[in-house]
Amino acid sequence: MTAPVTLKALNHWFGTFQALKDIDLVIEAGEYVALLGPSGCGKTTLLSVLGGFIAPSQGSVMIGGRDMTRVAPAKRPTTTMFQDYALFPHMSLRDNVGFGLRMAGMGRAERYRKAEAQLALVGLADAASKRPHELSGGQRQRVALARALAVGPDVLLLDEPLGALDLKLRRAMQDELKVIQRQVGTTFVHVTHDQEEAMAIADRIVVMNAGKIEDQGPPARVYRQPASLFTADFMGEMNHVPAQATGQGVETPFGPLPVNAPFRGSATLCLRPEAIGTNEAEITLGRARVRDAAFFGTHIRANLVPDVDPDLVLIAHLPPGEMPAAGTMLTLSASVDTISVFSKEP
Ligand code: ATP
Repeated sequence: MTAPVTLKALNHWFGTFQALKDIDLVIEAGEYVALLGPSGCGKTTLLSVLGGFIAPSQGSVMIGGRDMTRVAPAKRPTTTMFQDYALFPHMSLRDNVGFGLRMAGMGRAERYRKAEAQLALVGLADAASKRPHELSGGQRQRVALARALAVGPDVLLLDEPLGALDLKLRRAMQDELKVIQRQVGTTFVHVTHDQEEAMAIADRIVVMNAGKIEDQGPPARVYRQPASLFTADFMGEMNHVPAQATGQGVETPFGPLPVNAPFRGSATLCLRPEAIGTNEAEITLGRARVRDAAFFGTHIRANLVPDVDPDLVLIAHLPPGEMPAAGTMLTLSASVDTISVFSKEP
């Protein structure tokens, strides 16, 4: 089952502290949305408003076209999956997964059939009689997912669901979550502070900062053409170059660059480390000295000091070939579409 969600003009205060500010968000039925942002930006508060655990101070929550703003969590077509899984230790996986169905009054035979189908969906068909302590962290996480989906929510809310897993398992579970979401078609809203996780799983990333939505869009757009300097920095490592937007282009320490900026005045030019290369491209950044470099497996991460400004250090991700020695001179270039410019004017 699945449903769209519309959040309109949401504001929420905890006492005098405003945790959510003018949130407007439309989520399509069957969409996988990641709420991404630093600690304290309001992600969990927004998820709690969606799940009905917090009644917003202002604004409305529509799910499947129905006003749910003041409806209790149990009466909403939503289920929340928390990071700690909260499985019942004394119950079999079959009973854990069927728990919500039992509460809804479903008889044992049908409940077990449904629970076992959900366990099969998450790859645990043979483990239905086991208890949670017999499972690994990743398997427990899957049981929690099976239990959340067993009740057939229209919208599944996931609060840092992979936070307790080690990095390798986390990456594997991200792939699985996405596959399972596609299979069931339920709308997923997934809170994370890990931008790689958001890019790995989501159809759309909603970037939050200090209670507000900073940016929202498909992962590639949010990463490559961020709407704000905050998003640019939060989505990954970024070089900042001081610049002046002239109306015709941008003046930089590398000379004038043909980059569009919809404003005039003091600016910050942003360039991702992997956008800087040594092959010919539209923009030349001149010569630079390798200050130091390190091997990262997929690339060499180098700190480069351009000739034009010895106080500027550019981070570049170079192909993982031969390691350039400190002091090596490189000629740098970049392509126009990898550059974003943000105004520094208030
Ligand atoms: P994290 O990733 O650390 O969980 P978050 O983005 O989910 O962070 P929230 O938990 O939504 O952030 O909290 C947003 C802000 O609201 C924080 O500054 C937090 O201290 C504050 N806050 C959250 N819950 C309450 C509460 N019950 N009473 C007072 N302040 C709260």
